[in-house]
Amino acid sequence: MDIRNHFQLCVLLAKEDPTNGGWVVLCQDVGLFLRDRICPHCGDNAKLVLEKSKNMYMWRCRKRGANPHDFKESLAKNTLFAKTKLPVDRVLHIIYFFAFGENTYDTIIRESSTNDVVTSRESVVQWMAWLREVCFIWLDRHFENEGRIGGPGVVVEIDETKIGKRKYNRGRNVDGHWIVGMVEIDVVEGRGKGGRFRLEICKPPALALDGKPRGRLELEAIIRKHVEPGYNHLTVNHQTNFIDPNTFANTQTIESQWRPLKYKLRKEGVRDEYLAYHLCEYLWRRHFKETNLFMSFLRCAAEVYNPAVPPPEAEDA
Ligand SMILES: [Zn+2]
Repeated sequence: MDIRNHFQLCVLLAKEDPTNGGWVVLCQDVGLFLRDRICPHCGDNAKLVLEKSKNMYMWRCRKRGANPHDFKESLAKNTLFAKTKLPVDRVLHIIYFFAFGENTYDTIIRESSTNDVVTSRESVVQWMAWLREVCFIWLDRHFENEGRIGGPGVVVEIDETKIGKRKYNRGRNVDGHWIVGMVEIDVVEGRGKGGRFRLEICKPPALALDGKPRGRLELEAIIRKHVEPGYNHLTVNHQTNFIDPNTFANTQTIESQWRPLKYKLRKEGVRDEYLAYHLCEYLWRRHFKETNLFMSFLRCAAEVYNPAVPPPEAEDA
């Protein structure tokens, strides 16, 4: 199933039976919902039934006789939708507009409201945070798989920003950590325009036990992890100092996409503690710009919230 525009999404969400060509099938196709659930009591396939009070589908297996049981489990268990109060069909509108960058609160509220119910600002704020978190976790894994940026003839700029308190829904807690941004700001001919980015969240730098400036060794390790050696020139914006780690000389001659982006986000009112999220949202959309952003987002969300792989902290219902 492929939803190419908002009209097609509306047609899909209007299906009377979502389990027959509707939103349940869309979510199953991309991997956000399980396609089958085996009843843990008898080994038969559980059936999907609508739980009207929760506006959600449940896996259910009810047997009498020698092994009587009544197995019930939410289709949303361990999924992106596990904690939502909003019905999934309305969340899909939110995801649609988020994916395409139509992400002002007013747009999202308008587009996810019904004739009877106006989506609350609180719900939108919560959902935007969850969706940005999907971008964050997905990119983190992607960077790890893709390997290093930089290389011969490529200038890489490094930028550090402290990020504040933030509790993750599914992922690491990065309270008081630093975000290290790495961006290719000039590439050799034939490698295309627009530098690749890397982001790393790191722990607060340890105290200077070795007598070296605080955080220097850790920063070097992060650069080595993400940036191919052989760069002609590499600059670091370490708080207010600009340092070249090759020579540890200061430099002020930095042109980049990274700091203008941070500046733009701050100008839009994004506070520092949320900066990493907004940067990731931007990077995610940039990465997938040649694709159908809605379908790409659903697939990324299914990788991060894979219902077949519950998070370690998940409780058994
Ligand atoms: Zn059963």
